Parts: sequence; structure tokens; C-alpha cells
Amino acid sequence: MTSEEVKSLTGQYIMNTYSRFPVAIDHGQGATLFDFDGREYIDFTSGIGVNSLGYGNHPWAEAIAGQAKRLGHASNLFYTETPARLAEILCKRTGESRIFFANGGGEANEGMIKLARKYSFDKYGLGRSTIITLKNSFHGRTITTLKATGQDVFHNFFFPFTEGFRYAEANGLESLDAASGSDVCAVMLELIQGEGGVLPLDKPYVTAVKKLCAERDWLLLIDEVQTGVGRTGSLFAFQQYDILPDVVSFAKGIAGGLPMSGIMANEKCMDVLVPGTHATTFGGNPVCAAAGLVVQEALSDEFLAGVSKKGEYLRREIEALSLPCLGKTRGMGLMIGIDVKDGYSNKELAGTLINSGLLVLTAGSGLRLLPPLIISKEEMDKGVAIMKKTLS
Ligand SMILES: *Cc1c(COP(=O)(O)O)cnc(C)c1O
Repeated sequence: MTSEEVKSLTGQYIMNTYSRFPVAIDHGQGATLFDFDGREYIDFTSGIGVNSLGYGNHPWAEAIAGQAKRLGHASNLFYTETPARLAEILCKRTGESRIFFANGGGEANEGMIKLARKYSFDKYGLGRSTIITLKNSFHGRTITTLKATGQDVFHNFFFPFTEGFRYAEANGLESLDAASGSDVCAVMLELIQGEGGVLPLDKPYVTAVKKLCAERDWLLLIDEVQTGVGRTGSLFAFQQYDILPDVVSFAKGIAGGLPMSGIMANEKCMDVLVPGTHATTFGGNPVCAAAGLVVQEALSDEFLAGVSKKGEYLRREIEALSLPCLGKTRGMGLMIGIDVKDGYSNKELAGTLINSGLLVLTAGSGLRLLPPLIISKEEMDKGVAIMKKTLS
């Protein structure tokens, strides 16, 4: 098919829920993508932080094919090998104790919310179910995770939403205090707000939240759906904040491109969810887990240090361009936000770059870069050159 044919078929038969950029992607190699007409794009998006190992990765594809030939799915009423092995690696590398595998970020966060409420119910009974989340956060698209998301624009159309969420300012301890109460069971936050604009939390703030949670027996729930699995230069961002979350969710990059997510709980919380309280048909699919094992093998400590270096290099190169439309950069590892100056629209800038062969994302009012973690220096340089040529 041609790119035009793919776009027109999509328009006819797929619900119009995405404002898509006019690019139809056919295949890729490394961090470079090609459309159906053979046009090349440098990818600074990894499908929103998913394709951490890039495209055309042979060990990844072979692990998937091999597992698919052996066993594509088995019910969670039986045992399979690859999810158990992946869970062992994740627990050993983070200090968490047990994992529940699901399929997407919103679903993982639902599980995290359920776990927190049940922990509190088991210990204190009814009436202690409120979860404090942060303004400008993003936690998913289900009816409950929309409500957990601290942005009014998401609290529309689908009434009634799930009750039991209050919102506090990011990096604001007074605001957290104002939102607290005897009905609270947990605090849930992203360490770097992703969709909100790549806004990292301050370390002293996170340390103070951790202390408050310990004092009041609130669970500390961390949404690492976007920051997790190597994105920020450590396996999980919480490792750079020196905390061990009671529960942490992950998704996007976990299987390098296949749909998989999950939550990890520490020793205190690992037995809260018991048979009959939580389940999913596809969660822990052996093919997705086989892909996840290849991702874990790739993300050695040395590789993760390289992710931090690449992020620093890319930010330095972009700031050195001193483009009229772009301001400062921020972020951790290969999760990068770029300020867009007043008078410019981030969506228009993204559209212009994409038309010129560089895929980028927006977040908040800025640009967001989430390149594949395996991106080469040559590909980063090509992308920066496109920014220079297009936006000067
Ligand atoms: C993407 C994202 C989600 C939602 O994940 P889905 O897989 O789209 O359900 C939740 N939280 C954060 C922080 C995200 O970035």
C-alpha cells in the first residue's frame, strides 16, 4: 500500500480518536523509521517511550518468534516460565518483592489504586480510601485513572467518575498538607510528569513525601509508566530519588514494543491482592515477557550510564543551536522536555519537524523527546541537524 492508501483506510474504519500527524509508518532500523513511500524519519519518540531497543532488533524479534512458536498464551490459572523469570529480574534489580503483570499503563495504575484501597480497608476498615495525586499529572484513560489525573480537562463527558481523589501542587508540601485528612490512604505521583510537560519533582520534596507517608501509614504509589525501564538512565527513576515505593507501576518500555505493564509491591504490600481480588486474562503473556527479558538483558548498568550520557549530549547540542523558538531543556536520561518560547505553538513546531523528517512529541506547552534508548550518535546528530535547518 502507499502512505495515502493507509491513511484513507484508517480514516474509514478506525474511530477518529487521535489527532494523527500525516505520516504512515511501515518499518524501521535502529532509531530510523521509513514510511510507505520510502521517506526516512529520525525517531525522537519511540512510540511514546515504548520502543526502547529501536526497530529491527534481532534478539528481540527472535525471542518473540521463538516463544510464539512454543506457547503464545496460557491462562494465569496455570504457570508459565517467562513472566516468572522477568519478575525475578525486576525484583532483584529494584528491591521490590512481588509483581502483578497487566497490559497497559492505565490498567496497571488501576491495580495500584485497588491495592492501596485494599491495604487500608484490611487494616482500618471503611472510610479511608482517598488518594492524593498531583495537579498536572497523567495516570490513564479509564474512568478511575482519568479521575486520578490532576487536570480538569480530563474530568469531562464520562460522568460519574470514581470518587476518592484529591489534588495537590507538585513540589508543594503545604498544598499536600491541605489535601490530607483522616480519609487518605495513599499518595500517587509521577517522579517526572510526562504528559504534563516533562516536569521533574524536586528530590527534597519526594523525601518529605516519603517521610509523611511513613508517619501516617499512607502508601507511596509511584507511576513509572513513562519514566520506568531505563528511560531516565536508571532502571527506574525512583532509584535516583533514593526511595523504595510501596507500589510502583510500569508499562511503556517494559517489553520494547509489545503491550505489557505491571505493578511491583514491596514486602509490606506484596500480599495485599489475593485470589479473587485482582486478575486479567492477558497479563503476563509469555511472548510479551520473553520480549521483556531481552530488554532487561540489554539494559545493563553500563548501558544505563550510556543513556544518561546520550541525554546530556542531546540536550547540550539542542541548547547550543540557540533557536529563536526554543528555550531551555530539562529532564533525566532520554526523557527530555524543551521549552517553547511565547509566540510559538508546540504543535506547529512538531508538525514542521515531522514534515522535515524528525519525529518529536509535545507535552504541556513544550516539545518532548523520548528517543529509542539505543539511538546512535549519528542519528542524534542527524535529528539535531534537522532541528537546526528547519527551525532557524
Ligand atoms: C502513558 C501513561 C499512562 C497510560 O498508559 P496507557 O498504556 O496508555 O494506558 C499512565 N501514566 C503515565 C505516567 C503515562 O505516561
